Amino acid sequence: MKIIRYLDRAGQAHFASEQPDGSALVIEGDIFCEHRVTARRADVVKLLAPVVPTQMVCIGLNYRRHAEETKAKIPGHPVVFFKNLAALSHPGDAIQIPTHLASHEVDYECELAVVIGKTCKNVPRARALDFVLGYTCGNDVSARDWQRQFGGSQWCRGKSFDTFAPLGPRLVTRDEIPNPNALAIATVLNGERVQDWNTNDMIFDVPALIEFLSGSTTLLAGTVIFTGTPHGVGMARTPPRWLRPGDTVTVAIEKIGELTNPVVLEGA
Ligand code: ZN
Repeated sequence: MKIIRYLDRAGQAHFASEQPDGSALVIEGDIFCEHRVTARRADVVKLLAPVVPTQMVCIGLNYRRHAEETKAKIPGHPVVFFKNLAALSHPGDAIQIPTHLASHEVDYECELAVVIGKTCKNVPRARALDFVLGYTCGNDVSARDWQRQFGGSQWCRGKSFDTFAPLGPRLVTRDEIPNPNALAIATVLNGERVQDWNTNDMIFDVPALIEFLSGSTTLLAGTVIFTGTPHGVGMARTPPRWLRPGDTVTVAIEKIGELTNPVVLEGA
């Protein structure tokens, strides 16, 4: 099933199931437990991120070619960091370049985002995908100056500014994507494909990430895992290509769709 979340004319949020004819039918109940697709047409005024995450946990340096372009060693364990929940952003909403705590090095990262459907702990690799509700597109927007120079050697600051976690446009349930590590993934910046690769290049694949992240650690239902980005990020280009007001960034993932966000200055 392809699930969207949206605001209706009254400003209320609902889930709906997208249909092959382009319409969507309202879902009653909670997509994390009991729910059913009704016969009622969804009155979609604005698309929202398909879930409200209970946490956003992210993996750095998880594609071989990307680790190479940043001249980092191939990590022995997944490199984990978190994004602030308030950084969540919706399809079509603007990515804001921070001006108050100013950044001059804001970058894009297309990522396969995995939504955990059932609270779990100590999950073995063989059962890991049973705990996945589905997949969506994520953009792990990153202020490289706050990540690399001013972050005190952690990454959360530079990855957690408001609007730095666009998600969407839909959640595709796991039955439609039996192998999440065989998907074309790309970033298109103002029409140019700046990242263009495949999730089969992950150093730690999706089952390995769930096994690792749930080790001695409860993963709450609603956890969104940003699984890392392939090569082609702006900081590794010559010269670097930082996001600028007026840019439009699209993350495209096979079988999921396209997540597009314009770029503006904070406060503009
Ligand atoms: Zn990332």
